[in-house]
Amino acid sequence: MKLKTILTTCLFLSAAFALRAQDNATDSLRHSFGRMSVASSRSTSTPYADTLDTDNPGVKVVLFNNGTFRYIKDPKAVADSKVFTEHWDTRSVNPYHDEKPLPDHFSLWIVDTLDSYCCPNKTTPSSKFGFRHGRRHQGIDLPYPTGTPVYAAFDGKVRVSDYVGGYGNLVIIRHANGLETYYGHLSRRDVEPGDWVNAGDVIGLGGSTGRSSGPHLHFETRYKGYAFDPTWLIDFETGTLRHRLLRFRSWYFNPNSRYVQTMDDEDEIYRSDEEERLLAEEQAKKEAAARAAAERAAKKYYTVRSGDTLGKIARKNGTTVRALCRLNGIKETTTLQIGRRLRVR
Ligand SMILES: [Zn+2]
Repeated sequence: MKLKTILTTCLFLSAAFALRAQDNATDSLRHSFGRMSVASSRSTSTPYADTLDTDNPGVKVVLFNNGTFRYIKDPKAVADSKVFTEHWDTRSVNPYHDEKPLPDHFSLWIVDTLDSYCCPNKTTPSSKFGFRHGRRHQGIDLPYPTGTPVYAAFDGKVRVSDYVGGYGNLVIIRHANGLETYYGHLSRRDVEPGDWVNAGDVIGLGGSTGRSSGPHLHFETRYKGYAFDPTWLIDFETGTLRHRLLRFRSWYFNPNSRYVQTMDDEDEIYRSDEEERLLAEEQAKKEAAARAAAERAAKKYYTVRSGDTLGKIARKNGTTVRALCRLNGIKETTTLQIGRRLRVR
C-alpha cells in the first residue's frame, strides 16, 4: 500500500516535471519566433483571383493571379473584436482619457503568421522622437515627396481620417492588437473612418499640410494613447519590422525615451517570463531588506506612562536600559516623568 502511494507520487511528480519541461520548450520556441524580424511586403500589389473559406471561420485563403496563395485573417471576424469598439472615437486624436497607467512591462504580438507588415517608407528619419525645440515630438518624421503613396503599416481599421490642426490631413489606423499608427501632413486622404485596410494598402499621399516646414510623413505609434518611438518597432533604414513580438517597458512611453538599443539590451528585453519572474522576486527581496534596514535606522519614541521603569520600557521596545540611557543622555537612576518622550531607537 505504502509502495503504491510512493509510486503514484513519483509518477505524478515526473508527469508534472515533463509538463514543466515542455512548457519551457514551448516558451523558448515562442520567444525565438517572437524575436524574428519581418521584411516589409506589399502582397496587395499582386492582383488576387479568389478568396476561399477554410475550416476556421476566422481564416481565409487568398489566391493570387501569379499562382501563389496566402492565409489571411477574415477582417469581418477580427473587426467584431472589442478593440474596435471600446475607446472608439472618429473625431478625437486620443480617445484614451480614463486609461490606467500601463504596466511596467508587457508583450504585444505585432505580426503573427497571418498578419502582414509594410514599411511606411524605407528612409532615414529626418526628425526623431522626443523633445525638439522644447516641444514634445510624439512621432518621427520621414522624408516624403508630396504625392508619394503612403502605405498602412499593418492590417487594421481606420479610426480617424480628418484635417486636425498641426497634423494637417491625418489618418489614424487601429490594429487588432490595440496598437494605433498615425500618418500626418498628407496631401490627400484615401480612406474613411470604419474602412478596413490591409498592410500595404494606400491610405493617402504624402504632403506638407498642417504645421509642417516641408513635405514629410509624420509617423506615430501609440498604445492606449501613449506614444512611443516607432523606431522600437521598425528599422526605417532597412524597412524591416524588428520583432514579431514587441516587449514593452514602461520607460518606452517616457517622452524623452528614444530608441537606443544594443544587443545586450535585446537579450534583456527578451528574457523569458520565468527569468523575469525570478528577477522580480530577487528585486522584491532586495526592496524588503532595504525597507527593513530603513525601519531599523528610523528613530522611534515612547511616551512614559504611570508605572513605567526603564527596564519595562526597554523590554516593551526590544532594547536595553543601557541603550535607552545612551540615546536619551540619562542615567539608570534618572526619575522618569510621566508624559516624557524617550527615544527608544
Ligand atoms: Zn513630426
